[in-house]
Amino acid sequence: MGQKVAVITGAARGIGLATARLMQAEGWQVGMWDRDRPALMAAVAGIPDAFALPYDVSDPDEVARAFADLRSTKGRLDALVNNAGVAEFGPIEETGFDMWRRVMATNLDGVFLCSQAAIPLLRASRGAIVNIASISGLRASTLRVAYGTSKAAVMQLTMQQAAELGEYGIRANCVAPGPVRTKLAMAVHTQEIIDAYHDALPLNRYGSEAEIAEAIGFLCSEKASFITGQVLAADGGFQSTGVGLPALRR
Ligand code: NAD
Repeated sequence: MGQKVAVITGAARGIGLATARLMQAEGWQVGMWDRDRPALMAAVAGIPDAFALPYDVSDPDEVARAFADLRSTKGRLDALVNNAGVAEFGPIEETGFDMWRRVMATNLDGVFLCSQAAIPLLRASRGAIVNIASISGLRASTLRVAYGTSKAAVMQLTMQQAAELGEYGIRANCVAPGPVRTKLAMAVHTQEIIDAYHDALPLNRYGSEAEIAEAIGFLCSEKASFITGQVLAADGGFQSTGVGLPALRR
């Protein structure tokens, strides 16, 4: 059978790095993919048997090179975690087309390109795809016209993948995280936003990278063998509660 291989994009830090740690501890060999080469090399050095894929998920040529590299060096893929993402927030009128394209290029094009390139290897292993969306794709909010729309599209893409790839035995699921204190989130969350999240979330706190990684690891694993086409919100209850809940609670 041999050791299973998981490739995780955006694995140099944050949720991707936590997922690489967790999956390695659960017996997977992890391929860590990131366009930030220095950060990637440092992260790979900290994880036993991990290997680096220093590519940009939004560039079709780089994605093709990454999979050529993976095919020749490992020859197998059992799980693909499409986690690489960027967040840029702004009002609709101030969201220039360049910002819109930057967000879509990584968050949506990247998931499409990497998943499509992974199909032959995943077909051979009857493997799994886990796409990382966001609570911002489930619930609209201010400033997230590009980010939220990209993440809603990732959920639909997941269902398309589940519908078409099920006949190959490939499962496709999605994790929609609530707020986690990573570099991505801290760049766009002011103290006011942090306080508002604490107030609005039933669990009254941010999640940790490791808590999101648990949901991802589960959906990649055999424990989720009959689950496909689902969106799992790992969000402290954010999705289940409506506007105005904090006021109602008091
Ligand atoms: P992060 O910024 O800490 O890490 C993201 C990593 O992805 C970085 O190492 C970055 O270099 C890499 N990356 C970005 N674009 C890339 C590209 N085109 N090609 C290759 N690598 C690329 O972010 P994070 O908070 O760990 O986010 C991980 C995922 O979780 C993202 O998809 C994000 O949208 C999603 N998410 C995060 C939060 C949160 O609160 N942190 C909430 C919901 C969803």
